[in-house]
Amino acid sequence: MSHIFPRSCHGSRPVAVSGDGCFIIDQSGKCYFDGSGGAAVSCLGHSNPHVVEAIKEQLDSLAYAHTRFFTSLPAEELASLLIAHAPEGLEKVYLVSGGSEAVESAIKLARQYHVERGEPQRRHVIARRQSYHGNTLGALAVGGNEWRRAQYAPLLVDVSHIAPCYEYMDRSADETVEDYGLRVANELEAEILRLGKDAVMAFIAEPVVGATLGAVPAVPGYFKRIREICNQYGVLLILDEVMCGMGRTGYLYACEADEVSPDILCIAKGLGAGFQPIGAMLCTGAVYDTIAKGSGFFQHGHTYLGHPVAAAAGRAVLKNIIDRDLVSQVRERGRFLERKLRERFAAHPYVGDIRGRGLFWGIEFVQDRMGKEPFPPEVNLANRLQKVAFEAGLLCYPMSGTRDGKNGDHMLLAPPFIASEAELLGMVDMLEKAINSVLAPQTS
Ligand code: PLP
Repeated sequence: MSHIFPRSCHGSRPVAVSGDGCFIIDQSGKCYFDGSGGAAVSCLGHSNPHVVEAIKEQLDSLAYAHTRFFTSLPAEELASLLIAHAPEGLEKVYLVSGGSEAVESAIKLARQYHVERGEPQRRHVIARRQSYHGNTLGALAVGGNEWRRAQYAPLLVDVSHIAPCYEYMDRSADETVEDYGLRVANELEAEILRLGKDAVMAFIAEPVVGATLGAVPAVPGYFKRIREICNQYGVLLILDEVMCGMGRTGYLYACEADEVSPDILCIAKGLGAGFQPIGAMLCTGAVYDTIAKGSGFFQHGHTYLGHPVAAAAGRAVLKNIIDRDLVSQVRERGRFLERKLRERFAAHPYVGDIRGRGLFWGIEFVQDRMGKEPFPPEVNLANRLQKVAFEAGLLCYPMSGTRDGKNGDHMLLAPPFIASEAELLGMVDMLEKAINSVLAPQTS
């Protein structure tokens, strides 16, 4: 009997024993193509010798030194590398152990920034519906899935939610893309004014929404307008690139595509690439200086901050991405994948939308393409699809049901950056079989 407390208490899972390139192999010898990189984590696949060697080397020299007393070479070098390639204005890096921790750190930093500027009344965060920012209490408070939050209320942070930028479901037929982007961005201004000009500390959003909507980028112009509004009202812009960052979208930092720079940026997943748990919060010199010249102390911390072995892994992952120009490869393979997804699924009667950037793609399923009507939650479509694909040897990441109103079933694809065209084609073939076995097109 297993003594592990699994997330789902129903059913059992195979035991994963080894990794080889884009594949995970279980105890029975069965191979699974990692079409979702776990949950957009394993960007370099499962057997990168440079990262493994870097971890071993660090372990041989020093496993751990508490950051109260020491910094370490891998942490310093990783931070410098992140900043050398970061969007304009980001100057400091706070290393943590994962995505939720990065988001918690960002919320606390935003609050402390305003308190130290003599604006303690700025305690409100504005976030977006149908977003995901992590599972710890602060990150959960800003996340936009009510069903995830409800049983833990009241949560710690004062939050309100505005609409996401979700063109497929929300743009009306008589609206241009540009007008749509401005309309939803302007919801931020309306909410700031509703709460009071001096009440809001930060706005948080994912540049490409991942876990809750399946790779939904904002329309052009949306984030530029968001940046303008934040500047006008002294609200910090926090961009959560935990899932979409580190090259996943064909840009090292996803917000480069939207031509905006945040005040605070969160990354994780692809930074450790699954080899070590590591995340980071980056902030501007202005935010850092406020704390440095004020109390001089960020009132936050965890024992494993800037862990040298995790930092060595992050440094090796980032060097790999940069030295091999994997970001260009993501763009090129991404174009190939997009073409194949559209060829196979664009005309499928139950596929409503195919969207994404780079090697980050979502397929949304609807029961009626004209009305964009999602399948009812009891159909449990995405989970069923995922199960059939898994049995056939494909990992893809499902989001199922209409628990939060509009978002229905979708499948997220986030294969490793190293996947060859043949492997991507194999992934599309397996997915097509799974879709056709669960959702056979109706023939009359
Ligand atoms: N933020 C985003 C956008 C995410 O997608 C996730 C995880 O899926 C998180 C935060 C939380 O990251 P972690 O699971 O590493 O705590």
